[in-house]
Amino acid sequence: MGVDLHIHSQASDGTLSVEQIIERAERQRLSAISITDHDTVAGIDMAIKLSADRSLEIIPGIELSCVQDKKDVHILGYFIDYHGRELLDNLKRLRESRASRAEDMVNKLRDTGLDINYEEVKECAQGGSIGRPHIAQVLVKNGLVGSISEAFNEHIGSGGPSYMPKYVLEVTSVIELIHKVGGVASVAHPGVSNISEDFLLWLKEAGLDAVEVWHSEHNEVVTQKYIELTKKHNLLRTGGSDCHGLGKSRGYVLGTVCIPDSIIEPLESRSREIRTLRNIS
Ligand code: AMP
Ligand code: ZN
Ligand code: FE
Ligand code: FE
Repeated sequence: MGVDLHIHSQASDGTLSVEQIIERAERQRLSAISITDHDTVAGIDMAIKLSADRSLEIIPGIELSCVQDKKDVHILGYFIDYHGRELLDNLKRLRESRASRAEDMVNKLRDTGLDINYEEVKECAQGGSIGRPHIAQVLVKNGLVGSISEAFNEHIGSGGPSYMPKYVLEVTSVIELIHKVGGVASVAHPGVSNISEDFLLWLKEAGLDAVEVWHSEHNEVVTQKYIELTKKHNLLRTGGSDCHGLGKSRGYVLGTVCIPDSIIEPLESRSREIRTLRNIS
């Protein structure tokens, strides 16, 4: 048993299809998973359909990026009404600006002498949410760089010559948006984003419900630190591998972080509370 509440599919920048994700989750005997793609909920209907006659629960999820005080803060939403109009409108806007940002980054790469073509990047994203990993994959495929890591380290990583920031929403707006569709908001990989206790309290003030204490890049010490903080400040706990599939330099493997089934019920119950408070069915 166990759960994995942070998985990227081909609907954003993961390499696994929804079918492959479900298959692997079942093989690992997970009891629940959440596909938390960047700025899209396109994989969720298929996941729910495919899991219909299996003992695998699909929790509708999302991952949204924010920048606060020059720091990257990622917010995960769970038990969201993923057909909610306001959510879908915002996601569409975010994906459109991802596409124009990718096009601008391709132009920058071309200015530095790399012969990369935006159409190929778009094709790589297969109609999903376009991100830097797609640009990196095309650079590797065309032999313009030796690896995904090289693409990030030399060109498109934050501060790199062809890097461009993406349009993001304010953290407070993201938390509010998740609540508006009945979802529970959790701060992703706080150990990677370097979230301090003070900042966690600020996030809680903004409505944050939970903290992703288990994550592929959290060692035991970091996990324990955030578990203690959630207990001290009465926050819920979430966890996931942040799997992006195979062939990625950050290809954390689905289901390999040990996360207890017992985290699901409190999250679901918080979602019910939020729905009752806001009159959402
Ligand atoms: P974007 O949302 O387009 O800015 O791309 C961010 C995504 O790029 C992250 O979710 C990771 O999947 C990936 N990523 C970020 N930094 C690196 C890196 N140094 N190496 C490999 N993948 C990375
Ligand atoms: Zn990603
Ligand atoms: Fe993230
Ligand atoms: Fe992620």
